[in-house]
Amino acid sequence: MDRKIFLKTSLLGALLPAGRKFSFSGQAEAEGPVVISTWDNRKANSAAWEILSGGGPALDAVEAGARVPEADPGDRSVGYGGYPDRTGKVTLDACIMNHESRCGSVAFLLDIKHAVSVARKVLENSPHVMMVGEGAQQFALDNGFKKENLLTEEARQVWLNWKKNPEYPVTSWDQYMNHDTIGILALDRQGNLSGACTTSGIGMKMHGRVGDSPLIGAGLFVDNDIGAAAATGVGEEVIRVAGSHLVVELMRHGASPTDACRRAVERIVNNHGGAMDGQVGFLALNKKGAYGGYAIQSGYSYAVRTLQQEELISSESWFG
Ligand code: ASP
Repeated sequence: MDRKIFLKTSLLGALLPAGRKFSFSGQAEAEGPVVISTWDNRKANSAAWEILSGGGPALDAVEAGARVPEADPGDRSVGYGGYPDRTGKVTLDACIMNHESRCGSVAFLLDIKHAVSVARKVLENSPHVMMVGEGAQQFALDNGFKKENLLTEEARQVWLNWKKNPEYPVTSWDQYMNHDTIGILALDRQGNLSGACTTSGIGMKMHGRVGDSPLIGAGLFVDNDIGAAAATGVGEEVIRVAGSHLVVELMRHGASPTDACRRAVERIVNNHGGAMDGQVGFLALNKKGAYGGYAIQSGYSYAVRTLQQEELISSESWFG
């Protein structure tokens, strides 16, 4: 299968200052920082790249990247424009983690667009790791964020339509997932890793439901000695195997990023006796700049940006 479905730039390296040497999985040594993100989040990668290419820190880069789909009303599963829950409310989950294992997270956050930036404030301005609901919203307001309506007319119409026949998809979640949740991982020129994850979760979820995305170790994990990982898809499945932590631990024990993601997928599939129709996709980046991804079902892709590449890669998957 041709895994590279898009190749835009190959000469960026000539335009940018030289960075550290990193070696890529199965590829030649390349120079410079790396950013990767779930799905077609090339615009997010570009925002992150602005920071990384100027020598800025990975933490700033992943936050800047995650803010792009959060502000995009056309993105149905992140921030503004995300599908609501069954009660018509858009509730956001996000987290961020840096190279010093410091992290911040918010869950069940209402009416604040940039959940990832609130998560960063939790990391920086609180003694805690995770805040939820009303308390998270109050914390955001105290830190200068503004309340705004996140439910677009288009998303409201989808919800109203769903209410006419309010089936809750249990096995096939795809209809209301839309595959845009962003997990974004970066390695900066100093050789430090950070990651972020942000989502409005599964559309038409139960009110109060929280997925994997804000859970450190499930939707995201970073260990600056080893690598970083993020997840997308049915959060309940990811939580059950502590997915992103599992991927990083597999890399610690020698697995390549792609193989670590594949083995984490295998654990989920095994939880279902080898057959399932839900989707989960993982993404991994190791300390040397090698990256990879793997999914349960076909159709998962991830975006990569380095000095040499700007690509959307079609991931391999368990069920082909
Ligand atoms: N993982 C997210 C959740 O379960 C959904 C997604 O990735 O689309 O909330």
